[in-house]
Amino acid sequence: MDFRLGAKSDAFREEVREFLREHLRPDMIERAHDSGTSHDWELYRSLGAQGWIAASWPEEYGGQGRDPFEMTAMRDELRLAGVPTDGLGQSIIVARTIRAVGTEAQKQAFLTPALAGEIIFGLGYTEPDSGSDVAAAKTRAVRDGDEWVINGQKMFTTLAHEAAFVFLLTRTNPDVPKHQGLTMFLVPLDAPGVEIHPVHTMGGERTNATFYTDVRVPDAYRVGEVDGGWDVMTVALTFERGGFALTEADRVWEQAVEWAGRTRRPDGTRAIDDPLVRERLATMRIDNEVARLLAYRCSYLAAAGGLPGVEGSMHKLWYAESMTADASELVDMLGAEGVVAHGEAEAPVDGWVEHLYRHAAVTTIYGGTSEVQRSIIAERGLGLPRSRR
Ligand SMILES: Cc1cc2nc3c(=O)[nH]c(=O)nc-3n(C[C@H](O)[C@H](O)[C@H](O)COP(=O)(O)OP(=O)(O)OC[C@H]3O[C@@H](n4cnc5c(N)ncnc54)[C@H](O)[C@@H]3O)c2cc1C
Repeated sequence: MDFRLGAKSDAFREEVREFLREHLRPDMIERAHDSGTSHDWELYRSLGAQGWIAASWPEEYGGQGRDPFEMTAMRDELRLAGVPTDGLGQSIIVARTIRAVGTEAQKQAFLTPALAGEIIFGLGYTEPDSGSDVAAAKTRAVRDGDEWVINGQKMFTTLAHEAAFVFLLTRTNPDVPKHQGLTMFLVPLDAPGVEIHPVHTMGGERTNATFYTDVRVPDAYRVGEVDGGWDVMTVALTFERGGFALTEADRVWEQAVEWAGRTRRPDGTRAIDDPLVRERLATMRIDNEVARLLAYRCSYLAAAGGLPGVEGSMHKLWYAESMTADASELVDMLGAEGVVAHGEAEAPVDGWVEHLYRHAAVTTIYGGTSEVQRSIIAERGLGLPRSRR
């Protein structure tokens, strides 16, 4: 079995590296770290101008017809270079969903600016009382002529402070079983009645609580059928998993190996000479490799014309859990200084291990918690009985 991505992907990978050498500056990475906002407009517009936001799409939609393996190579390079990718990751989920289920008018109106890097989208699913049980959403949308009036609250609306539209899950019929009374909208985040409040997480990410009070949106911004929102969500959630093959753990591993090779202990030996250091780094490398291959499997399925479902959950669960364990091991490996944060003069590995340690915990929550991924794998992958209703 040949695990390489092929000559075409290698050539594209080189193009991406060249692009990053020209367009990615250290201050962009620092700003994303300091603000917790994983998005940089200047870089994003350059990606858009390059035609790479959805480079796998056909040319008529603004893509370049690249295959899923080329896309994997591109995303690998973005991740290894430390590019803030949340804006890209979220927007491509919504753009792909619009392309799959939106009207022609919606494709015209939203996809052109999205692929040019002029706008990004937020995801408005989670509410204070419903996260894992996302179909229990209470945010109400009530029809009023050609418009809808929306009232409610969403929690963790990441990048709402940068996005033009939020892809909002609403309840349009409270009198039917919960999955049957949902409808999706694209809601302009500058509409009267929308409020955005920052939420700073332990992992360093800034996200938001968003409030909707008598927000009016035209029916033309409804995505999918009235009360057919769950079908739309099913498409969108599939696109959410299996996006990026590499994670922050891959970048931090490279930095940790570099640190171990040059750091001298008081007895004159290098950190890498310590078998415990080597064992930890080796374990993490193996875990990262497994995560990468699980993601490549998703790319393979996409290349074969399928949609990764359970396979996406396997990748998400593996990287989140192994990143959590490995980050903890790396903190131990560094000793007391392991908890010194990025930006502090004494921080080993430039503080990125400490950051990974905090960030890892968050990855077990967003995009569906580890418990939810386990349920999906158990039920849809292994055919075990349902654990949720
Ligand atoms: C940094 C960050 C960014 C996020 N960004 C977004 C975003 O942009 N848009 C958005 O809509 N949401 C976003 N989320 C929300 C995220 O998707 C939810 O937090 C997640 O789905 C869990 O929901 P919850 O927080 O309500 O926890 P709950 O669902 O209340 O879960 C609490 C605990 O119970 C467990 N649990 C729940 N149900 C089950 C079950 N059936 N079986 C076993 N265990 C269960 C969970 O695994 C968890 O451990 C973000 C979250 C974070 C932390």
